[in-house]
Amino acid sequence: MPVKRMRPLAVYVHIPFCVKKCAYCDFLSFPPEALPAGSEETKRRYFSALLAETDHAAQELRSGRTAAGTESCQPADGFEIRSIYFGGGTPSLADAEEIAGVIARLRRHFPVAPDAEISMECNPGTVSVDKLRALRETGINRLSIGVQSFDDTELTLLGRIHTAAGAERCFRDARAAGFDNVNLDLMAALPGQTAEALLCNVERAVSLSPEHISLYSLIIEPGTPFFSRYGEEVSDPHAAPRSERTQPHLPDEDAEREMVHAAWSRLEEAGYHRYEISNFARGNLRCRQNLVYWERGEYLGLGLGAASLLDETRFSNTRDLKLYLDAFADRAAASDANADTGMIRENIERLDEPARMEEFMFLGLRLTEGVQEQRFADTFHREIDSVYGETLRKLVREGLISRRDGRIFLTPYGTDIANYVMAAFLF
Ligand code: SF4
Repeated sequence: MPVKRMRPLAVYVHIPFCVKKCAYCDFLSFPPEALPAGSEETKRRYFSALLAETDHAAQELRSGRTAAGTESCQPADGFEIRSIYFGGGTPSLADAEEIAGVIARLRRHFPVAPDAEISMECNPGTVSVDKLRALRETGINRLSIGVQSFDDTELTLLGRIHTAAGAERCFRDARAAGFDNVNLDLMAALPGQTAEALLCNVERAVSLSPEHISLYSLIIEPGTPFFSRYGEEVSDPHAAPRSERTQPHLPDEDAEREMVHAAWSRLEEAGYHRYEISNFARGNLRCRQNLVYWERGEYLGLGLGAASLLDETRFSNTRDLKLYLDAFADRAAASDANADTGMIRENIERLDEPARMEEFMFLGLRLTEGVQEQRFADTFHREIDSVYGETLRKLVREGLISRRDGRIFLTPYGTDIANYVMAAFLF
């Protein structure tokens, strides 16, 4: 009997609620005071909307159309979910029953692989050990804890709601609740931070022995309180900070590079393999959801602002909470979920071959194992040199990439200026 080949699918579920807005954050998330209908009522309607959207998306896929409204090549019943990721916002603010409801609704429509990775972002200060136990029982098997720093002064500066001790407690509670796959998120290049200070944070993280550590540098995003404080420093590294001398400076580019490299070395020494520019894992416990993004696998985004890639079409949901809730909330069943999803879908982009090649290169190069030349040939039915030969030779000459054993990957220097390297692959 022929074996049916399933089409792997990752699902991202966005939960846009937070206790309070952090000073650097430009993610799509709302503190309670930004929810005119009240946080409990909005949360209730939001989860109702998520269920209806899940029904609707599955129905669209099953009917042979992609969720972006374009013609699909294969029906939804060929899909198998291999990973689910609850991100935010602060998904750990949701009740375990609400999360269980979303997982159950996904299971109703799609087979879920027995070894599927089901991750949730979790903020210290929002969960007790009992809540973590309840979340573990929903099937969540990977937790990503937003620690950012183990220094209380840095945490206050960032506007986080927790202390370093609270972050450690959250990790131990996660272990007690049965989570054996835990990521800790750390941030580098914080105002006033030195290489020694970052190494102290790394050391504290390593001492807890999580399976995975992410280390991202702070980016000063427009529209955030940090932008009003540090925007000028970003555009002119020699400018004095606007709000007086008491404010710590951002590390300059050289200092940032130095501290990040020191942190990478320490993590490698402690047995964490850097498998992506900013991500480290023990053994093979890499984040499967993120690998789907970097390897251009298909994913369905559910919830406010969530992005999808299906049938070589990228699209995202509206970022307008009212529009999203009006389209889906309080619609009990799929048959009732007859909203015109065209209203809530934005940025629909059908990727032609050059766009797919660009993505293949700049996403693949984020991985330390790099891009496999054979995979490029299998995907595009062309040798990579016939498309990017000249670019590759130039980048090798400049010491930014290496080619070895059929793979192309960033050198340490190329990693430092990865954005420049990746831009070279745009047509
Ligand atoms: S907890 Fe995360 S999503 Fe929420 S405000 Fe802070 S950084 Fe943003």
